[in-house]
Amino acid sequence: MASQRHVDVGGVQVGGGAPVVVQTMTKTETANLEATMDQIRRVADAGADLVRVAVPRDKDVEALHRIVRESPIPVIADIHFNHTLALKAIDAGAHCVRLNPGNIGGPDKVAEVAQRATAKGVPMRIGVNSGSLPKHLHALERENSVEALVTAGVEFVHLMERLDFTNFKVSIKSTNVPNTIAANRLLAERIPYPLHLGITEAGTKWSGSLKSAVGLGTLLADGIGDTIRISLSTFHAEEEVKVAWEILKALKLRERGPVLIACPTCGRLQFDMDTVVADIEKRLEAYEDPIEVAVLGCAVNGIGEASHADFGITGAKNEGLIFSRGKALKKVPQERLVDELFKEIDKYAATRKIEVDAAEQAAGAEWLQRIEDENAGELTPERLAKLEAEKARADADSIDAALRLDEEASPTAGRRFTRA
Ligand code: SF4
Repeated sequence: MASQRHVDVGGVQVGGGAPVVVQTMTKTETANLEATMDQIRRVADAGADLVRVAVPRDKDVEALHRIVRESPIPVIADIHFNHTLALKAIDAGAHCVRLNPGNIGGPDKVAEVAQRATAKGVPMRIGVNSGSLPKHLHALERENSVEALVTAGVEFVHLMERLDFTNFKVSIKSTNVPNTIAANRLLAERIPYPLHLGITEAGTKWSGSLKSAVGLGTLLADGIGDTIRISLSTFHAEEEVKVAWEILKALKLRERGPVLIACPTCGRLQFDMDTVVADIEKRLEAYEDPIEVAVLGCAVNGIGEASHADFGITGAKNEGLIFSRGKALKKVPQERLVDELFKEIDKYAATRKIEVDAAEQAAGAEWLQRIEDENAGELTPERLAKLEAEKARADADSIDAALRLDEEASPTAGRRFTRA
């Protein structure tokens, strides 16, 4: 359920069915122009569509004038407690202002900011965090924290509507993943405005990425959420952007650069896949095409489930195979596997064609067939999964057949069998 409304943040549409927008926040002191601009360029290179900067002091507003002019992507000013800074940020050219209407000094001050934003055509993000709910909702929060969060969000929406300002997106965030999911589901039903998703203080790169993938991924899979920010405890904001993209790519919501797939490895592994996968992942960062690259730890299953990959490698002890879209391309010595893979990817990047040498392809296919034949009896994870899938399909077919027989025997008696 995409939001019905949208806002335009410096030319980037958020909501109304537009692709989910990736944003992040700089971790530098905004007034430190050099460091802030350096980080903005890095997050833009990593794929951020929007960037937010903290504006807690007048000197940050001063810097904002130049940041807005020099930034390659639209800039959102993050303001707390001080509506004057919000007014100044709008005057400085911020493409959007993020504020919490509950901590900015009362409805009059919110009205002043809304008026200035209207005059300059600047949208706002209004948001509440579970840790900063208004006092009158504290009792409800103890009883039902999700309802309290949603109520706070809806109250702010109504406040903005009373002020005749509807050029905004909304965020309600919590450190609690199930609460974030439940609250945003409810909010999406209650308001038509674009939603900004995030898990507050998600944690380190490892745990924060997982929490965000679960929380935001669940909502995005439901079609809820128009822009996302991954909050990680790292000084490298581009890491947040990379995680955001992995989530969007995994859900097939947006494409950016290659997708790497790799087998989980098992006792049949034939080469140092840990190092090889990390090396390939790093080298793929330099490419823009949304190609799929597969890494298989052994050739026992043939190309199997990676046959849809644009390029892939699989190895045996001394030799490995480069394959493409289900077919062998060539057999190469193990130590040259990765370099040869990238030669093929480079050729494709330059020509948009997959070059095939018939003799090399035949030799590769023969090598692969030999390994498959030699290991035909092995119960690999892939073969077990295939057997399970076949069994599930056979079970479903027999239930369907039983249902049909039942209906033919007694068309009016109602169904005795139901499918789980
Ligand atoms: S059997 Fe499958 S999981 Fe095990 S190493 Fe080979 S490709 Fe990887």
